[in-house]
Amino acid sequence: MIDTYAVMGHPIKHSQSPVIHAQFAQQTNQLLEYRAIHVPPGDLADAVRQFHTRGGKGLNITLPFKEEAWLLCKARTPRAQQAGAVNTIWFDQMGQACGDNTDGVGLVRDLTVNQGVEVAGRRVLVLGAGGAVRGILGPLMSAGPVRLVVANRNPARAAALVERFAEHGQLLASDFPQLAGLSFDLVINGTSASLSGTVPDIPDKVLAEGACCYDLAYSHDPTPFVRWGKSSGAAIAVDGLGMLVEQAAESFYRWRGVRPDSVAVIARLRREVASGIRPPRK
Ligand code: NDP
Repeated sequence: MIDTYAVMGHPIKHSQSPVIHAQFAQQTNQLLEYRAIHVPPGDLADAVRQFHTRGGKGLNITLPFKEEAWLLCKARTPRAQQAGAVNTIWFDQMGQACGDNTDGVGLVRDLTVNQGVEVAGRRVLVLGAGGAVRGILGPLMSAGPVRLVVANRNPARAAALVERFAEHGQLLASDFPQLAGLSFDLVINGTSASLSGTVPDIPDKVLAEGACCYDLAYSHDPTPFVRWGKSSGAAIAVDGLGMLVEQAAESFYRWRGVRPDSVAVIARLRREVASGIRPPRK
């Protein structure tokens, strides 16, 4: 029987994960099937159970279920444990769900390996305090920034996240106006502002000379935050397509023990998104 994997979410129609994993499987000569499964809110536990009963090997979990998936897992990797969110599931010998969160390691790999951007020793600003930021803070802190500030429109949410990750090192919470006078080498937009065509209302001068701007969102055109970065003098301004592929590569590696060539898949997906063959959605 062919090994079966899937991504579960709501909505799920525009997920790129089946395309990405099909390319990984082809590259690495792995015989597997990967599909997208729509799960109505409230049905995740049943859907995961049924998937496993039918022989399913592993799952990706996307919006809005990452926190619910965390609750379902009986064992979790340390980074998933701390994030409080799971995006990758496999099953142990007893059939129990085990969870990982590969979003943060995907981001750090795209930044440091694909973009050549150092995190170690740098001043890092993360905008937003939602589910995506929860997933990236642990791996970002492990990459050794000299300072990391989490700024959110609602500062109480930033403060709660900083408390959760406090043991990782120097981590500060802020609102947007308090950023005035500070400057950063790397600014990561983890808000969903780009999806509504806007840019978080942060002071103009937060970018240090040679800074990098990274938007977790991605699109066929430069996102509003990527455009803002370029017009504000960033040396590098990129969107989150590379992170999307890298987090998938990490899931694939966990399931199959083989690391795919993510750079080739990023290049192909970028061409397809730019030409309109693929919708610009996760
Ligand atoms: P959530 O809904 O959990 O959080 C949204 C965050 O954005 C909150 O912090 C919210 O602030 C903030 N926000 C929304 N609109 C604005 C605005 N106009 N100005 C300032 N802040 C705003 O979303 P997620 O964390 O799940 O997703 C965030 C982004 O990350 C999305 O663009 C998503 O597509 C992307 N993403 C990309 C991935 C990838 O692989 N490339 C993986 C996962 C996510 P407040 O708390 O004040 O409401």
